[in-house]
Amino acid sequence: MHEKKAVKEGDFVLPGDYLGVIEEFLPGEGVIEENGELYATMPGKVKINSEKMEISIEPATDTPPIPKVGDILLAKVVDVKPQVAIVEILRIEGRMDYRDLATSKLAGIHVSQAKNGFVEDMSKEFKIGDIVRAKVLSAEKSPIQLTTREPSLGVIFALCSRCRTPLVRKGNQLICPACGSVETRKISSMYRKIRV
Ligand SMILES: [Zn+2]
Repeated sequence: MHEKKAVKEGDFVLPGDYLGVIEEFLPGEGVIEENGELYATMPGKVKINSEKMEISIEPATDTPPIPKVGDILLAKVVDVKPQVAIVEILRIEGRMDYRDLATSKLAGIHVSQAKNGFVEDMSKEFKIGDIVRAKVLSAEKSPIQLTTREPSLGVIFALCSRCRTPLVRKGNQLICPACGSVETRKISSMYRKIRV
């Protein structure tokens, strides 16, 4: 099934993505027409020439982006062990074209990199399903190593462990507005201020 939503200049598309109808645009490079509808034939960025009313795809020149040291990532916690939280990378901040990594999508936050100070129990800092904002510490080895020590890093969205309602920040704690449960996390100063 193709999702038939409008694209705009600069959008990143994949082969088979719906771009519009023939009444709106003429198909340019990287675009085919099928029964009056336009689809991308290669991965790349949408270009719209409004003079010629032509839509085309500027091919993605490099391989999928690989996180590098210093990049800020948004990632979802998939496992929490005593020494490490395992996360799945969702995207690299500031890079909207991020889709598939050439390397593994998993990364780790070691207990020593969770926050400043001693962490007794990683499960009090992260829980499965949390969305975290983290910085890449090392990217040469797999899995990629992340840190959440800085104030703006850490959990930016979390659900109540008991009833799955999004938690609200109150000071250094997270409160469930539905059941009143109080939880702890390594909370980012940007908690619920970033669209995931
Ligand atoms: Zn709750």
